[in-house]
Amino acid sequence: MIQVRNVSKRYGRHQALDDISFEVKKGDILGFLGPNGAGKSTTMNIITGYISCDSGEVLIDGKNILEDPKAAKSRMGYLPEIPPLYNDMTVEKYLEFMFRLKRIRLPMEEHISKILDDLNLSDVSERIIGHLSKGYRQRVGLAQALLGDPPVLILDEPSVGLDPAQIIEMRNLIRKLGENHTVILSSHVLTEIQAVCDKIVMINNGKIAANGKIDLLMGTGKGTKIIRLVAEGREQGILSALKSIDGIIKITSLGESERGCYEFRIESRKDIRRAISRAFSRTDIAIMLMQPAGHSLEDIYLELISGKQG
Ligand code: ADP
Ligand code: MG
Repeated sequence: MIQVRNVSKRYGRHQALDDISFEVKKGDILGFLGPNGAGKSTTMNIITGYISCDSGEVLIDGKNILEDPKAAKSRMGYLPEIPPLYNDMTVEKYLEFMFRLKRIRLPMEEHISKILDDLNLSDVSERIIGHLSKGYRQRVGLAQALLGDPPVLILDEPSVGLDPAQIIEMRNLIRKLGENHTVILSSHVLTEIQAVCDKIVMINNGKIAANGKIDLLMGTGKGTKIIRLVAEGREQGILSALKSIDGIIKITSLGESERGCYEFRIESRKDIRRAISRAFSRTDIAIMLMQPAGHSLEDIYLELISGKQG
């Protein structure tokens, strides 16, 4: 349904996207996960045709977004990071305005009232957008994306700035929409993505860092053991004590987690907990926490965004 092929984009000297490719199949709810500045919004703006790429191509249902923008855009609803709302319009007037702007050929009143209904917005349809809470405004942005019944929805961080109750509400809405739409949902919060998506593309520094089904990604590195360690001492001292231990595959520094304490993620071929205690007993390093951890998606993501590997 969506093909992103070898897309690159520069802003001046900054390479925002570096040769990224991925595919979204019909009916998928794809999570597009990456820390702030990773390139998520840039990618979504390119997919929806709001900005062009320097090289590569994007196909929506086989239509090239640059060569056939009208056909490609009519298949997509887009909720940008900052929704294009007119704060002095009522919800209903705004949706009518956008309906006309998009030149949609459906019975307008019926169509808009169905969307208002589906998104639980009917009660506020006469209210001025600028007077609504952030949660409602975000839903109005989503309503705008649903105009014209597009089969594909591109949602850029729809939960940012919402309170916990609104986040759950937005999550449920996206889940429901996912039943009959192909969805790309971006977020810098892993739990957000895990809650609704079945596939995931991780992006970091403009490059794809992981891509696949969530359950398969979690299975990577089978047979290895992972420990989360918090130790008190100098970071370099802790690292060199750890490096003397046999069987370690990789040490990832996760930074200072409490004052004077550093957190590490250690991947090894065997149980090295006793060896760690012994190695530290010869120093003044204290173990504050040592916990076996699965190879969870969170580990992969933490490792990815920390970017530091020992
Ligand atoms: P994300 O949505 O993942 O937070 P963005 O796609 O917004 O990331 O940004 C990716 C990188 O490109 C960031 O380093 C950002 O500062 C930079 N960037 C984004 N938009 C522009 C722009 N219009 N001009 C210059 N740099 C930009
Ligand atoms: Mg963004």
